[in-house]
Amino acid sequence: MKEYEKNIRKVEPYVPGEQPREKVIKLNTNENPYPPAPGVRAALKEMDTDMLRLYPDPTADVLVKALADFYQVDSSQVFVGVGSDDVLSMCFLTFFNSRKPVLFPDITYSFYKVWAELYRIPYECPKLDKDFRLVKEDYYKENGGVIFPNPNAPTALYEELFVVEDIIAHNRDVIVIIDEAYVDFAGASAIELINKYDNLIVVKTFSKARSMAGMRIGYALGSPALIRYLNDAKYSFNSYTMNQISLICGVEAVKDKEYFEENIRKIIDTREWAKGELKDLGFQFTDSKANFIFATHPEYDACELFESMKAEGIYVRFFKSPRIEQYIRITVGTREDMQTMFAFLRKYMKK
Ligand code: PMP
Repeated sequence: MKEYEKNIRKVEPYVPGEQPREKVIKLNTNENPYPPAPGVRAALKEMDTDMLRLYPDPTADVLVKALADFYQVDSSQVFVGVGSDDVLSMCFLTFFNSRKPVLFPDITYSFYKVWAELYRIPYECPKLDKDFRLVKEDYYKENGGVIFPNPNAPTALYEELFVVEDIIAHNRDVIVIIDEAYVDFAGASAIELINKYDNLIVVKTFSKARSMAGMRIGYALGSPALIRYLNDAKYSFNSYTMNQISLICGVEAVKDKEYFEENIRKIIDTREWAKGELKDLGFQFTDSKANFIFATHPEYDACELFESMKAEGIYVRFFKSPRIEQYIRITVGTREDMQTMFAFLRKYMKK
């Protein structure tokens, strides 16, 4: 080993789902199959590229204000970043600095472990129960912070707000982060608790319900004090995380509440219909409240199924991880894409 090797930070990176170049039925990374709000397209068409000479506003003021208006909170309670991955990474850096372990479920978004390792934060992973439900009492013990997604990924299960609040209330001495990437497809958001609990941060994204994964916009809501700490960390890292195009398009997306709600309704309708189709084929699955379904089949090996679907140009996600290696995660696509998938599955299962 070279001497300098000792000083190199070595990390095992997060592995995102595949982004194939060729045209496939893409149900593997929980993107939205519908386009962003029409205002985003119009803004891009009319964009004055001369403005790109200048640095963007480091405070991302227009987008912060648009989100504050949307959620009826003060601008001092909003932080924005380059996708919720960037926001979550900043949260780990800013809020998880204890010697005690940070807690997150054993089956959850696999990036949490990567950030914990990257920033050298100790962590523990309480087990979800046999039905993949969060056991709230596991989060009562001493810890250096708590984070979980609601709905959880890849299980797609949503915990009612009283469960989330119970965990926040039992952890007033640490920061609790609720990752609500998928909450728009589910139910009540913990955003309504941010004025009640000054130890709460809620993280959200434009990548799912707002159809803008390619734009990379995420945000966090919390008390003005916590948001100030996040901004201090951000300005110590990179002043200009939000580019000018994202700021303009982000505002356009937030403006169109009607389109946003219609988009969500279409995904939920297709999800509920798809559950019926999966059931007819003999699949078992959790009661998804997200834009994806986490399914297993008692007669078919998940890895083989995943490979066979991929060979047909139908991409879903498969995790070779303990307890879930017999599951596939299927993003809810358009009705047509889902129909193509079901036609293949019926042929594959000779049904
Ligand atoms: N949280 C969860 C639970 C996710 O599944 C994802 C999507 N991979 C993210 C956060 C990050 O999404 P983005 O960076 O696109 O906002």
